[in-house]
Order: sequence, then C-alpha cells, then structure tokens
Amino acid sequence: MKILIVGQGISALTCAKLLLLNGWQVQIMSTSSYSKPTLVLNPMTYNLLQNIWSIDLTAISYQFSRRKVLWAEDLITHDNGGYTIEGDTLQKYLMQNLHSFHHKDISTQKHQGKLDFNHLLKTRANKNFWFINASGREKKTSNNTHTTNSYGNRLIVSFNVKLRKESETCWTETTKNAWFFLAPSTKKTGVLQIMLPKPNSNFKELIEETIFIKDQIESYYITAKFKAFPQISFPLYGKNWSSLGEAAMCFDPLCGDGTGYAIKEALLTTAIISSIAKGIPFEDCLNHYKYRLCKTFIVHIQNSLEYYMKAFTSSIWQLEIQSMKKIIHHPEYHKAINYNFNYTLVGNQDLKQIEISKNTPLTKKKNDKL
Ligand SMILES: Cc1cc2nc3c(=O)[nH]c(=O)nc-3n(C[C@H](O)[C@H](O)[C@H](O)COP(=O)(O)OP(=O)(O)OC[C@H]3O[C@@H](n4cnc5c(N)ncnc54)[C@H](O)[C@@H]3O)c2cc1C
Repeated sequence: MKILIVGQGISALTCAKLLLLNGWQVQIMSTSSYSKPTLVLNPMTYNLLQNIWSIDLTAISYQFSRRKVLWAEDLITHDNGGYTIEGDTLQKYLMQNLHSFHHKDISTQKHQGKLDFNHLLKTRANKNFWFINASGREKKTSNNTHTTNSYGNRLIVSFNVKLRKESETCWTETTKNAWFFLAPSTKKTGVLQIMLPKPNSNFKELIEETIFIKDQIESYYITAKFKAFPQISFPLYGKNWSSLGEAAMCFDPLCGDGTGYAIKEALLTTAIISSIAKGIPFEDCLNHYKYRLCKTFIVHIQNSLEYYMKAFTSSIWQLEIQSMKKIIHHPEYHKAINYNFNYTLVGNQDLKQIEISKNTPLTKKKNDKL
C-alpha cells in the first residue's frame, strides 16, 4: 500500500516522517502555502517534535522562561516557559529534512488551484492507496461529502511588536472585549495575538484596555488575521482515507497546544495504517481513531467554555459561548464520551514500530474486592 498525503503543514510532514520511519513509501501533494501563525510550543511538544525528527530546534526558536496570565481577575505566574517559533520557518525546516534523509522513499507533487478530493479517491481507488487529508483549516479542496461543525466565529489578529525592554515572559490577558497573547520572539521583539469575537480594527484602543500588555509594547504592526474558532469535520475517515490535523479538528488557540494535538494525531494515524496492514479490522482501527479525536475535541470545548464563561459577559461573547455549548447536541457526542477504548497506542518510544494493540484485560488479583 502507498500513502498519499494531501498538505504540507506540520501534521502532514510529521505523519510523513513517522510513516517513513515505519517503512512506508510516501507521496506528498502540496499546493501554494498560506502564511502560518507564529507558534508557541510548550516544552513537551517541543521535545516530542525534536525526538520524532531527531533535530535540534535551538537555531530556529526562542526560549522564554516564564508565563504570566491575567484571566478575568486571576493573576497567575508559571515558571514553565516555552519556545517561540515561526510556523513558516518550521515547515521549511521539516520539509528539507524529509528531502535530505528520505529522498529514496518520498516524492512530492505540486498542484494548482482546488483539489477535487472525491475525484482523487475515485481515480486511485483500485491502486492500493491510502489517502491522508492534512490540508488544514483552509482546505483548498472541493469536497461535497464533508460537513464542518464550527463552534463560534472568533478570529485572531496577529502583530509583530517591538518590546519596550528585554523580556523572557509570555503574557496572556483578558479585557472585557478580547483576550491577548504576547510572546517574545527575540530579546527585543515579540508576537502579539488578539482574539476577538468579531472584526474590530481599533487595535490601539483595544491594547490600551489591557493592564500589563500595553506596558510591554513599544510599537507594533499587523501581520495576519486567522480564523480561530474550534471546528471538527465529519466524516473523519472513509474506506481508504483519513483526515489529520486541522483538516480534521481545529482547536481554539486558547489551548496553546494545537501543534501538540496535530503531532499526536500523526502518531495515531501511523499506528492505524500499520495496524490495518497487519490485519486488525479496519472498522476497529478507524473507530478507535475517530472516537479518540472526538473525545479530545469535546474535552477541549468543555475546557475552553470554562475559561470563556469566566472572562466574558458581553452579548457578542455570549454568542461564542452559546455556540460552543452546541457541542452536546452533536450526534457523536454521547458515543464519544462513552466509547469503550479497546486499543492502546504502542511503539511510540522508538518510533519504528508504531501500532495499536488490544488492551489486555486487567487480571484480578487474589484478594481484590469487587
Ligand atoms: C492564530 C493561530 C495561532 C496558533 N497558535 C498556536 C500556538 O501558539 N501553538 C500551537 O501549538 N499551535 C498553535 N496553533 C495551531 C497550529 O497552527 C496547528 O495546529 C498546526 O499548524 C497544525 O496544522 P496542520 O498541519 O494540520 O495544518 P496547516 O498548518 O494549516 O497546514 C495545511 C497545509 O495544507 C496545504 N493545503 C491546503 N489545501 C491543499 C490542497 N488542496 N492540496 C495540497 N495541500 C493543501 C496548505 O497550503 C497548508 O500548508 C495556532 C493556530 C492559529 C489559527
């Protein structure tokens, strides 16, 4: 079986790397890329990425040592820092790695315009292909069999900033209108992201409403706007394909670990493909994948809701909150919450034999009480 991955973001490239390490041949289908947000990675995700890729990201990232969070009325200081890294730089770095170390087993193909995903599935249906749709949130694909469930309308406006003084602190702060995230990207510069429930271009006034963040910034200019509401697409898999990364689920950047989730999905995708090839029933594998993703997504929405309900009371934010509460009406909600996971991911230590394996039932010890 050959693997065709549509997309060239972190989820696509990491999945390609894992599949190559597990002995698969991979073809990557890419299209002109759009600009990626600057990422802040927590130490766990940063290390996971370095381990999977056997790389050192020091040269392309900036390490900060502290986080300060003013969420509603609560001010918390954490001594767990993180790493700021340009999404576009990381993507290029990973792509180069694939071409340098796996040129015999990987091929890339570029296409222009929209990709007809259904046509692609039909034309290669008999050729023993597995497709991974990792085309991101802004999928440039026409796909009339998918529905996307979105939970809100909010967006992030991103700025490059010059800092007033050298900083090793990453700030998160809420006002009544928005939440703000300021991470240093060098000693004197940083990236500011403002999460808004609807477009608003009066950034000066918005920043002035903050208590801490306004004092950190000397000057700023806007770089990009991103949709930033959570969403999940259904179906998540079909007969010979599965969705991955933001093409499957988009997380609210509030969670701060979209990349971590994308990498874990890439691990699970690799395990699922290897397990199907080894004879584990297709439906077992893909249901496990689907409900792992659904459950993660539901928990993510529930956590986000708690934070948003605490910080925002305006009517426009209430619409966002109501929209997230819709998750409990989704037909898969109860199935995902109650799903009995019979398999466990194994082999993710040495990364060369990743698969899912049936849980062994817990053996009852002699004196165990019921
Ligand atoms: C504003 C914002 C801030 C974020 N901040 C953080 C953060 O601080 N930390 C963190 O961990 N995560 C963060 N995330 C999440 C993170 O960006 C994603 O989880 C991560 O990039 C994984 O994305 P992906 O590879 O699934 O999709 P993408 O990065 O979107 O990649 C998809 C790729 O597929 C390509 N493509 C699209 N259509 C086609 C097609 N038809 N054919 C071929 N290729 C196609 C696109 O060009 C693109 O390159 C943030 C997200 C947003 C929106």
